[in-house]
Amino acid sequence: MSEQLDDAIIDKLPPEIVEHIEILERMRKDFVANVSHELRTPLTVIMGYIEALRDEAKTNPHLPGPLFDKIYKQSLRMQSIIEDLLALSRIETNKQIAVSDETVDVNILLNTIVQSAEPLIQRKQQSVTVEIETSLKLAGNQEELHSLFSNLIFNAIKYTPDAGRINVRWYAKGADCIFEVQDTGIGIAPKYIPRLTERFYRVDKGRSRESGGTGLGLAIAKHILIRHKGHLEIESEEDKGSLFRCLFR
Ligand code: ADP
Repeated sequence: MSEQLDDAIIDKLPPEIVEHIEILERMRKDFVANVSHELRTPLTVIMGYIEALRDEAKTNPHLPGPLFDKIYKQSLRMQSIIEDLLALSRIETNKQIAVSDETVDVNILLNTIVQSAEPLIQRKQQSVTVEIETSLKLAGNQEELHSLFSNLIFNAIKYTPDAGRINVRWYAKGADCIFEVQDTGIGIAPKYIPRLTERFYRVDKGRSRESGGTGLGLAIAKHILIRHKGHLEIESEEDKGSLFRCLFR
């Protein structure tokens, strides 16, 4: 089933069916939110024990340190999935609440995100350029916009091989404010592009896992954009690179 039922399709359905779909949707959202929340506490406890075991293994050669490292790495992955599911639930729940009319300084936001990505950029020896129209502010929710831009910037870094180039832009064009991330990465074949914003959809599951992906980043991005009355455009060519563009009106 598609991620969201089109309004045009909903309009054609009998009201009792629409009501039934809405109830099921609510149940699905509640279930995901509750399960994610319930998993958080035991996982935190497990991670605490594993951290203690890893520390112990540093001084005790009889303990299987590399095994503890593997368990720890997978726990971190699980933690990221849970946090992303909770973020998605929050955004979906807030759907009816208007985003606040606070003005976000995108200049500061983008510089903060790129700075936090610096260790990864250095490790991959990539060059990242940021072009910003500094006077251009955006009305919206600071935390959600941080999550949106950061998902797209980190994806560009993750899916671009070592020594690749990434260009981040924030500018105005006509009535639109535009955020763009362009990379010289692995690219995406056209047939996969329409499905990228579905939950857990990955073109290459192995590669996504290896780079710490949860498969939820673009689903989160899509919902944040809906809330900010923006939309996403994706242009990509396999083995050449991708361009992710967010348009805000
Ligand atoms: P993930 O956590 O796997 O990165 P996302 O929802 O952020 O999940 O992205 C979904 C999929 O879209 C990724 O698994 C990857 O296959 C593809 N993708 C996203 N961004 C890029 C990019 N800049 N270049 C190539 N592929 C990308």
